[in-house]
Amino acid sequence: MDKETQADELLIVNRELVYQNQDKGQSTAELLIANQELGFELIFQNSEKEKRAAELVIANIQLNFQELEREKRAAELVLANIELNFQNAEKGKRAAELIIANEELLFHISEKEKRAAELIIANKELLFQNEEKEKRAAELVIANEELIFQNREKEKRAAELIIANKELVFQNLEKEIRAAELVIANKELVFQNREKEKRAEAEAKKDEFFNMVSHELKTPLTNIKAINQLLEKTTDKTTKSYPFILKANHNIKRLERLIEDLLDVTKINSGNVGLLVTEFPFSDMLLQSISSVQQLSLKHRIILQNSTNILYKGDQFRLEQVMVNLLTNAIKYSPEADKVLVTAVTEPGYLVVCVQDFGIGIAKKDIDQLFDRFFRVNEIAMAYEGMGLGLYIASEIVKKHGGDFSIQSEPGKGSSFCFRLPLDFKKI
Ligand code: ADP
Repeated sequence: MDKETQADELLIVNRELVYQNQDKGQSTAELLIANQELGFELIFQNSEKEKRAAELVIANIQLNFQELEREKRAAELVLANIELNFQNAEKGKRAAELIIANEELLFHISEKEKRAAELIIANKELLFQNEEKEKRAAELVIANEELIFQNREKEKRAAELIIANKELVFQNLEKEIRAAELVIANKELVFQNREKEKRAEAEAKKDEFFNMVSHELKTPLTNIKAINQLLEKTTDKTTKSYPFILKANHNIKRLERLIEDLLDVTKINSGNVGLLVTEFPFSDMLLQSISSVQQLSLKHRIILQNSTNILYKGDQFRLEQVMVNLLTNAIKYSPEADKVLVTAVTEPGYLVVCVQDFGIGIAKKDIDQLFDRFFRVNEIAMAYEGMGLGLYIASEIVKKHGGDFSIQSEPGKGSSFCFRLPLDFKKI
């Protein structure tokens, strides 16, 4: 716009100048030439200006064209804007619809959330119920296992009961067998009792007989003994008859002892052996019995190895009888030996006396029977004098004192007979 104004002004100026030139043209030649040059210059400048003006016109046209284009574009933009507004309105409508739909959705969602919350609660309830069920199931499993265990135990118990039952049946059978055996044994016992009674009767008769015979023998024997003692004293020891008198004396003593033993046995069997209890030095009794037996054998030495100084309460005469029997046997059954050992020691509560010999000894099978009446070891019975009554009487006397016997023996090596007497004597 400025350039157009400028061009217009230039045109006006030019015309003014042309006008001025026409008026002054006829002035000076120099001025003319100068004018001409100036005219050329001006023409040239004018043509340049015209060219420039044309360019400016073209530029102006272009600008107008551009302006038109711009207006067209603006119109198009307006149209586009209208279109957009329309679209926006549509969109607003759509947005409103969407908002409604959204609210609808939100409502559904809140409903769903509510439902979900309810479902969560219901789910928790179910979970709780499931847990309860699982707990219950676990309890049932345990209860089941318990039942299985109990069943097994019952089966085991049943098996055991079956076995026990079989055992009982077996035991019953055994009992029946045992009962039958007992019946038989009972019959046997009845029979044995009858036998024992018969034997006891026979024993009693025998004892009665022994008692009577012993007493009957005792009186004439006392007479014979007195006569023989008189003969022994009055007969010259160098006469031929003297050894016979000594032999008769020996046999009278044997008979005397035998009669005494028989009388003792009958007394023991009838329970008439009374003890004459006194307090006496025990060693006195030992020495007394040793010296009386020592006289019978010059071959054997009876050695008292240990003695005791205690005062003992008991029947001195009967205990001496025990010792004499043991010492006599020790000498009698050890013909090849030359000594017999005697010991007497006290143990807690007891007095223990032992007589040891180094003679023929006794077989194990016979030891238990040694204290039976009239028992003699078969193999040697004929070789040694005796009746098998001494140990029986001795054991009964020791028993009467509350004591007992023990024997150790080895055939061919010798025997040891020991008896124990309780120190606090109680009459049996
Ligand atoms: P007896 O000697 O009169 O036969 P005993 O009752 O004293 O009667 O002895 C019973 C039996 O015990 C004897 O016959 C003898 O067989 C055996 N006996 C006893 N003492 C001894 C002993 N010291 N050594 C070996 N045997 C003995």
